[in-house]
Amino acid sequence: MLREFLNNTSSRNELKKSVYRFIHQRGHVSKVELLENYQIPQTTMTRMIDDLEENGLIRKFGFGESAGGRPPVLYEITPDAGYLLGVEISRTHVKVILTDLQFQLIDQQGFIITQEHTPDVTVSDILSIIRAFQKKHEKADDALIGIGVGAVGPLNREKGVILNPELFPAEGWENVPVVSMLEEAFAVPVILNNGANTAGLAEYHFRAVFDESILYCISGYGIRCGFINNGVFLNNKEGDVSSYGHIIIDVDGRACTCGKKGCLAAYTSINALFAMINETAQTEAAGSGSDLETAEELLRRLDRGDAVVRDIVLTSAYHFGIGVANMVNILHPEAVILHGLLIYHYEAYFDEIVRVIKEHAAIANQRHIEIKKGSLGEEAAAVGAAIEVFYNFFE
Ligand SMILES: [Zn+2]
Repeated sequence: MLREFLNNTSSRNELKKSVYRFIHQRGHVSKVELLENYQIPQTTMTRMIDDLEENGLIRKFGFGESAGGRPPVLYEITPDAGYLLGVEISRTHVKVILTDLQFQLIDQQGFIITQEHTPDVTVSDILSIIRAFQKKHEKADDALIGIGVGAVGPLNREKGVILNPELFPAEGWENVPVVSMLEEAFAVPVILNNGANTAGLAEYHFRAVFDESILYCISGYGIRCGFINNGVFLNNKEGDVSSYGHIIIDVDGRACTCGKKGCLAAYTSINALFAMINETAQTEAAGSGSDLETAEELLRRLDRGDAVVRDIVLTSAYHFGIGVANMVNILHPEAVILHGLLIYHYEAYFDEIVRVIKEHAAIANQRHIEIKKGSLGEEAAAVGAAIEVFYNFFE
């Protein structure tokens, strides 16, 4: 039922969809509030509400505050009138989530990307997880509303293709038509976007401040950022959000994987940290032992209080702060949301980035910029992909 309603683009249905979207965005809404927002006769609004309710798309939630007389009935969308799927494909892992229509997580499962994870193997594993979700939660194919994919770029978003991600651990990741591969299995819209964008959208949605702009920054194996203004992505044509990592913070500085020098990523990516730590260990007489190769070991050495590792990580936080301050100066976000292993694991790393952004972003002198850690953690990109595919029905 919901699927037909969302896919119906007739002008008669447009207003009803708009009312449904309004209720969805506000959470709980009374008829009076709807009438204030839509200049239509009360009888028309009543008929529309009754119709949405009879079809199970909205339901009575309870009563609002009384303005003297009877307290008004509040309506909400029926969260289980359908369901959404979100998929995150990063260089290191895949995450699949199942949400209701209010984007509340019902289930999630993921796997690590290994050398065996060619596109075919990966998509087949994703489909197995989806089928297992459907069985476990008794969700039929026809109640599925859409699948959102937040992936590592560069992408061709329009064609739904992952182009040629840098440093991908498995073979075959060139021109992967991930959207059509999923559409073959399910007759629903599938939307591909950058994981940094979808993660930013998820944070934006749950902040519920609908006229702000946010900059979402991921520091991991690559540096990826997403910018959302009033719910709209700032997209570049190549779908490559890694380019944020190649802004130059030191002319003639360290060599970067892109072949140029002094890029932000050359000082802040996890691989750059490994390289800088291993270089230092080699030059010091009493080095820290064997080469550092895994993020787990990096965190262990930090927790152990390894001074060499700590100094390099904090210097990297300084550089990251400089890079983000540059982005803030150009984009003027109201909020900066930081995400990444070290952000959540090492408080001093996060604190140093905040300090440097505040010190070096010119606009921070003029107004307050909120700088915080992601509130949705590892689920952000997949949840945001599900949100995007839902929002897309209303555009
Ligand atoms: Zn570079």
